[in-house]
Order: sequence, then structure tokens, then C-alpha cells
Amino acid sequence: MLELAKCNLKFSGHKLDYDRWEAMGNYGWSYRDVLPYFKKSEDFREESQPEDSTFHSKGGPLAVEKAGFHSPLAELFLNASRKAGLAVNGDFCGSDQLMGVGLRHQATLDGVRVSSANAFLPDASERPNLTVILESTVQRILFGGAKENIARGVLVKTGGRLVRIFARREVILSAGAVASPQLLMLSGIGPRDHLEVSGDFLKTFLVFDRAPPTESWNSGTSGPARGQ
Ligand SMILES: Cc1cc2nc3c(=O)[nH]c(=O)nc-3n(C[C@H](O)[C@H](O)[C@H](O)COP(=O)(O)OP(=O)(O)OC[C@H]3O[C@@H](n4cnc5c(N)ncnc54)[C@H](O)[C@@H]3O)c2cc1C
Repeated sequence: MLELAKCNLKFSGHKLDYDRWEAMGNYGWSYRDVLPYFKKSEDFREESQPEDSTFHSKGGPLAVEKAGFHSPLAELFLNASRKAGLAVNGDFCGSDQLMGVGLRHQATLDGVRVSSANAFLPDASERPNLTVILESTVQRILFGGAKENIARGVLVKTGGRLVRIFARREVILSAGAVASPQLLMLSGIGPRDHLEVSGDFLKTFLVFDRAPPTESWNSGTSGPARGQ
């Protein structure tokens, strides 16, 4: 969710996306619900404007600032955009997350990259309930319980061995945009056409038929076209 990578652009995600997820039944994922966690996580290193306190806060583990250096081209681009009538947006994590041109925020401290690991792990590393296991791969999610449909743990390949690790409370899957759905499918959760191809050996827990596509690629256009 919190995206911190490569060029370290800091953008918390668009509020309409969160609200749409909640409308789909994912309670607790509305923008109003997640905003306090974004605020808690960051150390916003700009001079505070009155509007900032709605969207930002200081003192969290993740430093957020604007780049100290801008190419002269950036200024030229901003000036040209203003002249063309585009709005200037000083904060794409603020009240208007979509419109306008402006200089972005980034997750750096005095220009040096702040990764999720070096922002959050130092404080958390002493916690008795945190164990980081390196060089290991989750093979699938383990299910159990009366109806056998509750995620109870994970099967992990580590040090050449397969190990079952069980959760006391819950399993949180955050293997990225590609590996998360892949792991779900390896665990028997996914679209029917994929799981049926995977073979009979796969015990399935949740199979769904995919809704008709809402987006398709039109030949001759450079992006997805709405409505089908
Ligand atoms: C080139 C590039 C540039 C980007 N630049 C930016 C940027 O400037 N700003 C920004 O906000 N976002 C940027 N992004 C997007 C950003 O990297 C992602 O949105 C973000 O990393 C997603 O975080 P995540 O925790 O969901 O997944 P990931 O960061 O992908 O983390 C998933 C982790 O799970 C691990 N994993 C996967 N499968 C398994 C398994 N079976 N067992 C154990 N571990 C597993 C992976 O090794 C990985 O460490 C960029 C992405 C790319 C590709």
C-alpha cells in the first residue's frame, strides 16, 4: 500500500480507489479509514500549511520532503503549464490528488533514500512478535478450522526444507501485485478457469467466475478504452 521504491515518489493512493474498495465490501479500507495510518507513518518535513494537518503529520518513521534539486527543465515545464492554464498543485497527497502540475514529494531524508526497511524496521526489530526470515519463499497458504476455509498459516521453503508456520491471529498476504494473486491461486483461491487448468490435485477453497471485462485494448490506441 505504501509505495516506496526506485525514484521514491511519495503518493499514498487516490481516495476514490480506497472508497471504491470499501464499497465492494472491504470494510475499514475507505480513505477516511486509511488516512490516519498514512499520517502516523510519515514525518512530513515541509513548513506546515493550515491544510497540511488534514493530510500530513510530523514525527513518524518515514521522512517525506520535496527534492532539494530540480532540473531547470522542471521550472520551465511548470511555467509553461501555468501559462497554458493548468492548475498548480503543491501536494498530490493533499485535497486534490489528481489535477494540476507540481513538484512531487519523495520519501527521502535530506535527499537520501528512505526505504520501508530502514524507515520501519529499526524501531520494530526489538519486538518479541517480529521475526524476519530471509532467503525463504512461501509456497502456499494453509487453511484449517471447522469449515477448512480459514487461513491458518503458510507453507514456507527455507534452508532447503518445507516448514509450516501457523499464525495465532491472522495471515497477511503482501507479496506484491503479481505474487499475491499467484500465491492465492496456488492455495486454491482464484478464477475458475485458472484453477481448473491447474489440475485435480489442487484443493480449492474459493473459486469465482470472472466478471465480463470492463476495459479492453483497442488496436490503434495507446491506452485502455472504457466500456465493453
Ligand atoms: C521500476 C519501478 C519503479 C517504481 N517507482 C515507484 C516510486 O517512485 N514510488 C512509488 O510509490 N512506487 C513506485 N513503484 C511501485 C512500487 O514499487 C510498488 O507499488 C510497491 O513496491 C508495492 O509494495 P508491496 O509491498 O505491495 O509489494 P512489493 O514491494 O513487490 O513486495 C513484495 C515482497 O514479497 C516478496 N515475495 C513475493 N513472493 C513471495 C513468496 N512466495 N514468498 C516470500 N516472499 C515473497 C517479494 O520478494 C517482495 O519483497 C515502482 C515500481 C517499479 C517496478
